[in-house]
Formats: sequence, C-alpha cells, structure tokens
Amino acid sequence: MKGDRKRILVTGGAGFLGSHLCERLVGDGHDVLCVDNFYTGTRANVARLLKESNFELMRHDVTFPLYVEVDEIYNLACPASPVHYQHDPVQTTKTSVHGAINMLGLAKRLRARILQASTSEVYGDPAVHPQTEAYWGHVNPIGPRSCYDEGKRCAETLFADYRRQHGLVVKIARIFNTYGPRMHPNDGRVVSNFIVQALAGEPLTLYGDGSQTRAFCYVDDLIEGLVRLMESPETCNDPVNLGNPVETSMHEIARRVLRATGSASPIEHRGLPVDDPLQRCPDISRARRLLGWEPAIDLDEGLARTVAYFRDRCGVARPTIRDLDLTPVG
Ligand code: NAD
Ligand code: UDP
Ligand code: UDP
Repeated sequence: MKGDRKRILVTGGAGFLGSHLCERLVGDGHDVLCVDNFYTGTRANVARLLKESNFELMRHDVTFPLYVEVDEIYNLACPASPVHYQHDPVQTTKTSVHGAINMLGLAKRLRARILQASTSEVYGDPAVHPQTEAYWGHVNPIGPRSCYDEGKRCAETLFADYRRQHGLVVKIARIFNTYGPRMHPNDGRVVSNFIVQALAGEPLTLYGDGSQTRAFCYVDDLIEGLVRLMESPETCNDPVNLGNPVETSMHEIARRVLRATGSASPIEHRGLPVDDPLQRCPDISRARRLLGWEPAIDLDEGLARTVAYFRDRCGVARPTIRDLDLTPVG
C-alpha cells in the first residue's frame, strides 16, 4: 500500500462521492469506517466493499455525537442535490452545522486531520467570474437554497475557528459540480436527469433558456483532488477549489447527453428555479499550485462512462420516468 495504513472515517460514505472515496481509500489499504444515515445514500453504493476486511459500515446521523477512534476524517455527510437538500431544509442546516461541530469535536479529541466537503455554492450567484477562493460570495441568506449555502458557509467558519482556536489541521475543499456513476437517478441534478430522460426517450427538462453555466468534473478526478488535499502539508489550511474549469451551458449539456446516448428525445423548457446561479466556473490555480492537481477526464469521456452506468442500471432496475420526481424547486 502507499504510505502509512490509517484509520479513516468517511461521513456520508454511502452517497455518490462518499462511496467512490471509500473505494479509493480501501483500495489504498486503509481501514475505512463509513458513517451514513442513508438519507440520500444507500447500502447498495458500498455493497462491493462490505466483504473487504478493512471496510466497516455504520448507520449514524452526524447531528448526534460520535465516539470512535480514527486518524483522519472526511466530512461529506449532507444531501447535495437541490431537490434533496430543499426537501427538509432545517435538517440540511442541522446536518451542515451540528454535523460539523460534532466531527470537529471528534477531531479535536483525537487530534485527527479533518477535511470538509464544502461547495461552490458558498459563492452563491457569483458577481466575480471565474471564482477564486479569495471571492467572498453573493449568497441569499433567506432563499430556498440558503439552508445548503449558508449551512456550508457556517461549516467553513467552524473549520477555520477550530483551526485558530484549537490548532486543528483542517482542509476545506470547495467542490464544484461533479458527476459520474452512482449518482442517484432520482436526485434531480442536471447530468443524471438528462441521462435518465434521454435513455427513457422522454423530453430533457431544460430549466430557463439553458444559457446558465456550470463546470462539470468527473468523479474520479474529484476523488484524486480530495485525497491530495487531505495529504497536503499542515500549513495548507485555506479553502481550495476542486472542479473542472471548463464552463458549459445547460443547453450544451443537453446536446452532449443526446449525442452520448444516441437519443432523439426533444428538449422541453421549464421555469428557472429561484436563485439558480447564472454562471459558475472555478479558478483552480491554487489546486494546481499546492496539490499539483487538475482534472484529466474531459466531459465527453465522463459522460460516456456515466451513460454506460445508467444504461446497465436501467437494464436491471428498469425505473420509468414516471417513478421519478424531476420537478424544479422554486
Ligand atoms: P449524496 O447525497 O449522494 O451523499 C451525501 C451522503 O450523506 C448520503 O449518503 C446521505 O445519506 C448522507 N447524509 C446526509 N445527511 C446525513 C446525516 N445527517 N448523517 C449522516 N449521513 C448523512 O451527495 P454527494 O454528491 O455525494 O455529496 C457529498 C458531499 O459533497 C456533500 O457534503 C456535498 O455537499 C458535497 N458536494 C458535492 C458536490 C457534487 O457535485 N456532487 C458539489 C459540491 C459539494
Ligand atoms: N464530540 C463527538 N465526539 C467526540 C468528541 C466530541 O461527537 O469524540 C461532539 C460533542 O458532542 C460536542 C461537539 O463534538 O458537542 C463539540 O466538541 P468540543 O469538544 O469542541 O466542544 P464541547 O464538548 O465543549 O461542546
Ligand atoms: N437543470 C436543468 N434541468 C434539470 C436539472 C437541472 O436545466 O433537469 C439546471 C439547473 O437549473 C441549474 C443547472 O442545471 O442551472 C445545474 O443544476 P444542478 O441541480 O445539477 O446543480 P446546481 O444548481 O446545484 O449547480
């Protein structure tokens, strides 16, 4: 194995990103404890790992204290898709804030390194473009996205204060839109929605006029960035943007998904959700400089791999579009 064998806690480990991270860390030979309350994640996401002797799964809600013994903590627990985090917004804020306090308290007792899965949503609907870590953001504190955006901002504050006040080694990853296999087919994010719709021969639901932009990172690239950030020197405590700096409009995403699936689905316009950011793209100079990291998988390659996953999954589970609630929020 590479480096020392560590005991690593991954909260939210049965979710989309968490399951890929657990797989990577188990593969690297670490002892991995995956903690999840299965709010949006599933046992099936980590089923393959359950037979590994260096993997353990625990059902637990991070808003309650957790007493375990580990060397490192990746704090990923939190629903990430707007449909899910707006379903129970008070719980979303509790998970971000109480969850961060509990995991930081755990890290403090153990003197463990801790990484926070923060988000590009801390920049809100940005007035600066592309977004550097120095930008403080443009966030509505009382809108439908605020439970997530402000919860994550408060979590960053807590991480910064546990560092200043208690000398913890903290890492803050500001993750931009990430996609890939094991996204929940029903979670309402654009890439999974479009692929599921295209494969079912249903219209692709394009919100607004489709000119709003995001930058999409394939999951394997993102996981590499998270691991490098965790392993970075103790002095590397400032937030780091992790994402693929190729800005793409939602209209273009629809076009690429149609091409990747070979689908003839039409595009159907729907209303733009409240506070939907118009433009978003990371400046990843800091990640390049401090971590030597940048994404290697381009959008078409990543989409092809993701389409292959959903094709297999549809073959087994056969979800129909009518099973899915894909309505925009707001
Ligand atoms: P996900 O919804 O698939 O995973 C989140 C996991 O956290 C799920 O397994 C869920 O059951 C678990 N969880 C939720 N509340 C919990 C609680 N109170 N206690 C224990 N577990 C809980 O989402 P994801 O895309 O894998 O996102 C993982 C993390 O990365 C989140 O913190 C999210 O905010 C962050 N992030 C993701 C993206 C992205 O594009 N995927 C972008 C920015 C930030
Ligand atoms: N905590 C935890 N596991 C631990 C240590 C602490 O879950 O191993 C929780 C504990 O419930 C506490 C929170 O983390 O409420 C913050 O801990 P800290 O020591 O920072 O603050 P205090 O205990 O003084 O509130
Ligand atoms: N979107 C869309 N159709 C969908 C789902 C999302 O046009 O079926 C748009 C959404 O309005 C937003 C973009 O795609 O502008 C990205 O949405 P997602 O929920 O994936 O991520 P986030 O808004 O959190 O960046």
